[in-house]
Parts: sequence; C-alpha cells; structure tokens
Amino acid sequence: MSEPELYHVLLLGMFVMAVFTAGALLYRTAPYGRHGEAGWGPTVSNRLGWIIMEAPAPLTVAAMFLLGTPGVGAWVLLAIWEIHYVHRAFLFPFKMRPGSPMPLSIACMGAIFNVYNGYLNGRWLSHFGEYNATWLYDPRFIAGTTLFFVGLAINLHADRVLRNLRPPGDKGYYIPYGGMYRWVSCPNYLGEMLEWFGWAVATWSWAGLAFAVYTVANLGPRALAHHRWYRKKFPDYPTERRALIPLMF
Ligand code: NDP
Repeated sequence: MSEPELYHVLLLGMFVMAVFTAGALLYRTAPYGRHGEAGWGPTVSNRLGWIIMEAPAPLTVAAMFLLGTPGVGAWVLLAIWEIHYVHRAFLFPFKMRPGSPMPLSIACMGAIFNVYNGYLNGRWLSHFGEYNATWLYDPRFIAGTTLFFVGLAINLHADRVLRNLRPPGDKGYYIPYGGMYRWVSCPNYLGEMLEWFGWAVATWSWAGLAFAVYTVANLGPRALAHHRWYRKKFPDYPTERRALIPLMF
C-alpha cells in the first residue's frame, strides 16, 4: 500500500472512530478527573498524565515538518498548532492544581491518539497539502484563524477560572462563575471545539475536519456528563446554564 493510500485509510478511520467514541462516551464517561473510577490500572498524577497524553501532538507534527517540504503558509499553520499544543502539553500541566490522579491507560490512549492525529495533520500540512505564502491572504485562512484564536481565548479563560476555584492544597469542586460560565457549564470544551473547527477552515483540509469532528465526539459527551454532575451535586446550580452551547444544549 502506498503512503497516500494508507493516509486515506487512516483519515477515514478517524471519522469512523469519532462515531464509536461518541457512542462509547455517551454510555460511559472517560474515567479521569471528577469521573475517575477504580479498575483502570495504575494511576499517575494528573500533571504527569497530561504531559504523557499531550506531548506527542506538538512533537509528531514538528517531526512531519522535518520529513516534508512545507511552504511558507504551512509554517505559519505549524506555528498556530504549536501555540495551542506547547501550552497544552508543557505549560497547562504545571499550571493545573493537584487533582484526581489519571489512569496511565487513559494517558497512553490519549498519547496514541495524538500520534495518529499528529501524523494526519502534520503530514497533510508539510507534504500532501500545498500552503504557500498566498494562502495567508485567503479568506478561509483568515476566517479560520480568527475562529481558532477566539476559541483559544475562551478555552484559556475558562480553564483559568477553574484553576482559581481551589485554594492551595484543596481538591474539592465549586461552581464556576464569570465569562462564558454565565451561559454554559463547559466553556473550556466549547472553546476547544471552536479552535479545531477554526483549524479545519484555516487548513481547508479533511485532516482538520476529522480532528474537529473527533473533538466534538470526545468532549460533547463529557460536557453533558459534567453538566449533569454539577446539577446533581449543587442544588443551587444556575438553572439557565446549558452544558455546552448557550441557550441551546
Ligand atoms: P475539566 O474541566 O474536567 O478540568 C480542568 C481542571 O479544572 C482539572 O484540574 C479539574 O480538576 C479542575 N476543575 C474542573 N472543574 C472544577 C470545579 N468545578 N471546581 C474545581 N476544580 C475544577 O477539563 P479536562 O481535564 O477534561 O480538560 C482540560 C483541558 O484540556 C480543557 O481545556 C479541554 O478543552 C482540553 N482537552 C481537549 C481535548 C481534545 O479533544 N482536544 C480532550 C480533553 C481535554 P480534576 O482533574 O480534579 O477534576
């Protein structure tokens, strides 16, 4: 099988996996954080778990660039990818408060996904796709990048609100307020989804779309689980707040 054929199989596989992931996670929430449960093998600290899980994403895409022949536009897209993932893999874990430990199995599954997704997106940008300097003036690049950074701002703000809820040493849960929390329980997930749909538009690629769809499949059910959990745990939880999409869902 040639590499382009393999690439297409893997790409299709990502869409198929999204369907199965959404189904499985609607049935059973991924067991980390507040939904953690015994029986998933050895655990590591949440900080180490996040590094193991996310580090392959910036590294795999960067490695694809060393193997390919990227144009100027591709390098700019790489910079956008790395802005998100250097933060997620190497800064976010050190900013987060100590919380529930993460099963190593979950961290490893996340790492494998990030190698897979990193190959699809990185290889497209640096080898199969064509992104020269003129792409940077294309309305799709401009609109997609704008959406990406709006999503990033929402995500970073929402995660900061959560971090500030816990006094040092505390592992409890509180009701978050402020910013997009006025509307939804999980603005960090909403921001993340906007980022990757922005990425799909900015790259105008099937690889970008596959990742955006997978992100919805992964985080949509988790947002629903968080929302139900909040409503059950806090009798005074704001009734007008939705799970993920203001006024709708
Ligand atoms: P959560 O919102 O579940 O938790 C984020 C952090 O805040 C954790 O440290 C958690 O502690 C703490 N926290 C959450 N809610 C409260 C609360 N009410 N009171 C006090 N502390 C709280 O997010 P995730 O851990 O699932 O995700 C973290 C980031 O990673 C998000 O920005 C998300 O968008 C991103 N992500 C992206 C994915 C993708 O598919 N691209 C996949 C998964 C995550 P504890 O761990 O103890 O619960």
